[in-house]
Order: sequence, then C-alpha cells, then structure tokens
Amino acid sequence: IYRNEDFEHYNRRMVINTALHNAVDDDFAGFEVYYQPIVDTKTYRLIGAEALMRFFMPDPDGGSPQFISPVEFIPLLEESGLIIPVGKWILEQSARQCAIWTKQIESFRINVNVSYIQVIKSDVLTDIMAAINDNGIKPYNIGIELTESGYLDSNPHFNELWSKLKDNGVVVVLDDFGTGYSSLNHIREMPLDIIKIDKCFIEHLGEDDFSDAFVKMVTELANTIGVHVCVEGVETDRQYAIIKKMGIYYIQGYFFDKPMCIESFEEKYI
Ligand code: C2E
Ligand code: CA
Ligand code: CA
Repeated sequence: IYRNEDFEHYNRRMVINTALHNAVDDDFAGFEVYYQPIVDTKTYRLIGAEALMRFFMPDPDGGSPQFISPVEFIPLLEESGLIIPVGKWILEQSARQCAIWTKQIESFRINVNVSYIQVIKSDVLTDIMAAINDNGIKPYNIGIELTESGYLDSNPHFNELWSKLKDNGVVVVLDDFGTGYSSLNHIREMPLDIIKIDKCFIEHLGEDDFSDAFVKMVTELANTIGVHVCVEGVETDRQYAIIKKMGIYYIQGYFFDKPMCIESFEEKYI
C-alpha cells in the first residue's frame, strides 16, 4: 500500500544520507561540535563539557543550511558506517579543544559519545589514545560516554574497551542509565567512573515518586561502590534543589546552558 508519508520519509533519509556522505568527503564541512557545560553540584564550578555533534545540511538552492538533529542523523551515520570516520573526527576535535581549554582549567574534561558501531567495527581505543597523545592532554581530560544496552555490555569487544580505557586512565561514563536492560548488579562489575542517569527520570523529579526513588537509589548504590553520578536534563530550580540534596556529583542541563558553539562557550565559561 502506497502512503505518501512513507515516501516522504524515505526521500528525506536519502537527501540527508547524501548530504552526510558529501560532508565527509568534503573534509567534514557542515559538521560542528557544540559543548554543553557539566557543573559540580556542590560548588557550582564548571568541571567540563559534553561534546555534541551538530550537522548543518547545505541547501541545494543556495539558501541557508538546515539544522538536522543528531537524533535523526546519528542513526543514519551508524547504518552507513560513516559514524566511524565522523566519530574519529569528533574525538580529534574534542581533544584539540581540550588542549586549549586545559591551559586555563587544568582538570577540564571533555566527554565524547562513542557509538557501539565504532566499538564493534573499528579500533576505537587506538583512536581515543591517539587523540589524547597527539594533543598533549592527560587521559583524565577525556571522558568516553557509552550507552548501556544490556546485551551489548556483555559483548567481549565492549568489556575489553571498558577495561582498557579504565586501565589507561580515561574516564568511563555509562550514559542513559535506566533506559536499557542492565541489571543493577551490572554496575558493580563494570569498570566505571561515572553513571549518567537518563533525563527521562529527571523530567519528573518532585512530581513522580518512582523517579525520585530511582535517582536516589542509583545515587546511593553508586556512591557505595565509588562511582560518581551525573544527571542530565536539569532544567528547573525545583529539579536542582532536589538533586542538590541527593549526593549527586555532577549536573548538566538547560538550567545552566544548552550545548553551544566554541566561541560562546569560551566567552561565558573559559
Ligand atoms: P545524549 O548523549 O544523551 O546527549 C544529551 C542530550 O540531551 C543532548 O541532545 C542535549 O542537548 C540534551 N539535553 C541536555 N540538557 C538538556 C535539558 O536540560 N533538557 C533537554 N530537554 N535536553 C537536554 P542532542 O545534542 O540533541 O543529542 C542527542 C543524542 O545524539 C545524544 O544523546 C547522543 O546519543 C547522540 N549524539 C550527539 N552527538 C554525538 C556524537 O558525537 N557521537 C555519537 N555517537 N552520538 C552523538
Ligand atoms: Ca551522552
Ligand atoms: Ca544521555
């Protein structure tokens, strides 16, 4: 059965895919890295930032480029395998930026998201260590965010990567905690530094007993095994007030700032 929406959806994917391919061939033109501040909950000090990819798709008719959300283009990069070169590019960009910002704030850390495709299909560990060494920064200046996904975490590639990152002193962050399938026992066995509780639990803090109890319980468990908790998606005073009481180390969210371009980040924070 022909449906117009399906056809339009298919067409849009084709257009974005082609644009992504062209961008990679054209030395990553159209890709940009934005940075969102991560703040120490108690002292209110900036401790680092998460690097988030942006793609501005050129307009074939010469108009202004169109912003495409990473929620839409990251899966396309993963399907086509382009996430491997693009993922390497963002690692290099972030490490280079980190070398500049650590001149002002020595312990500054940039967290970079790594996709499971990079883990399975490329030598991402070598890329991470090369980005660190080539830019003369310390391994603790880089955090690697990997999304928990239950069955993948028990894949040998993943286990090896987690432990080697940790052995090398790179900060290991378990992203989107609470959305996948991992059991709480998992966090005890994994070599982790930071757990990022998914923003869907933060959205309803103070309104929904389950979210409150979940965040509190994960934080207490994490603290007993020496793992720090970061919450993302903090937007309001109410959420911040609740989080402050819970023993959570780091926060990230629109409450401080949205992800922003290098110039704005520097002006405001560095
Ligand atoms: P993520 O890793 O969970 O990143 C956090 C997302 O939450 C970002 O969305 C950020 O802009 C958003 N966010 C932060 N604070 C708030 C808040 O207070 N309220 C709300 N509503 N949202 C907030 P963004 O930048 O659209 O990225 C979406 C996802 O795309 C990321 O989720 C990540 O999974 C993926 N992504 C982005 N950049 C990269 C990358 O370089 N590599 C890979 N593999 N994935 C990436
Ligand atoms: Ca992330
Ligand atoms: Ca996340």
